[in-house]
Amino acid sequence: NQPIATVDPDVAAVLDGELKRQQTYLEMIASENFVPRAVLQAMGSVLTNKYAEGYPGKRYYGGCQEVDKVETLAIERAKALFGAEYANVQPHSGAQANAAVYHALVNPGDTVLGLELAHGGHLTHGMKINFSGKIYHAEAYGLDPDTYRINMDMVREKALETHPKMIIAGWSAYPRHLDFAAFRSIADEVGAYLWTDMAHFAGLVAAGLHPSPVPYSDVVSTTIHKTLGGPRSGMLLSRDAATFGKKLNSAVFPGQQGGPLMHMIAGKAVAFKIAASEEFKDRQRRTLEGASILAERLLADDVARSGVSLVTGGTKVHLVLVDLRNSELNGQDAEDLLDQVGITVNRNAVPWDPRPARVTSGLRIGTPALATRGFGAKEFSEVADVIATALRDGKSADVPALRARVAKLADDFPLYEGLDQTHGA
Ligand code: PLP
Repeated sequence: NQPIATVDPDVAAVLDGELKRQQTYLEMIASENFVPRAVLQAMGSVLTNKYAEGYPGKRYYGGCQEVDKVETLAIERAKALFGAEYANVQPHSGAQANAAVYHALVNPGDTVLGLELAHGGHLTHGMKINFSGKIYHAEAYGLDPDTYRINMDMVREKALETHPKMIIAGWSAYPRHLDFAAFRSIADEVGAYLWTDMAHFAGLVAAGLHPSPVPYSDVVSTTIHKTLGGPRSGMLLSRDAATFGKKLNSAVFPGQQGGPLMHMIAGKAVAFKIAASEEFKDRQRRTLEGASILAERLLADDVARSGVSLVTGGTKVHLVLVDLRNSELNGQDAEDLLDQVGITVNRNAVPWDPRPARVTSGLRIGTPALATRGFGAKEFSEVADVIATALRDGKSADVPALRARVAKLADDFPLYEGLDQTHGA
């Protein structure tokens, strides 16, 4: 029962190093967040020792009385949070939740229709070398070349042309709301299932600050760790337990997973409790406010003159997509420059990107993690100005001056203060 610092100093050094990195950099990767300590505790608990194949009350192992309680709490809280009739909290990740949706609703070779990967879709929505593009016949709708938005007339046209068995709504990099009612009506018209992957915006939905896909979709999948701010994992929801519950349950287990990760499910239960609180709602409100402030600063004349713009000219969600096609920086340069300044972001292809995927001509910048850290309008204005100045000045940016401004923000908003991950037994 020695602490990790004694048993394995090499791994302990990584834990300490990563904690320090998270504390000293400003995290603006749109898909990341910081879990509360209560979630860390659930994840680092003895629940990891327990096998519990099956579902609460119907397990294939003995000794499940305690884990049954926690999985039931997670299910009931998830249903209440999103107004769903059905929830499955066992998917180990977003990709595995999505694999279960395919398993439950379509057969190998069936046509599915999702947002083009290069226009903001996810790998599991039909990318050629992902299981979704290999096993199923994946078709894609793209963005409207005039507006860079999803145009529901174009989606309908594509659906009428390709006859999908399932239509996918959802994205990994798209700064606008989706029209779920229009997706529903197209799915009904062509006789397709409608699946929404709300991985990115689930936290906003939980807070009532983004339209909910639950009433319109047959199935909704999500990750728990993005705007929702919980442990790294996935979940399935449906408004219709009678039609989809059994199919989805058996697609997750035994369809494609073995034993559920009970420590992660406990972490999800805690995260859902927190997500129902007023504090969480305020955090999501600040997340959106931060993204708007960032968009506004990046659209200002001084930045525009350097060739930097935003895909769709703004944002309605927790992220902005910076378009660098006319800037002296490419996506890789800009990611590296912000890293030197102390801000972590990821380069991201913009629609119709002329550069290869390893380099790209864009950045995806998100505000959820900083909102969790406590940032409000004032701090988001400061970080927006640091980013705008760096991107505007490009290769001649005053890195030490910008780095100092970032360090002050990080100091003013301490993260995981006093947390000792490596010495407790
Ligand atoms: N779905 C969407 C829309 C995503 O953006 C992501 C992650 O980036 C996933 C699914 C996959 O989640 P995970 O990384 O947990 O497999």
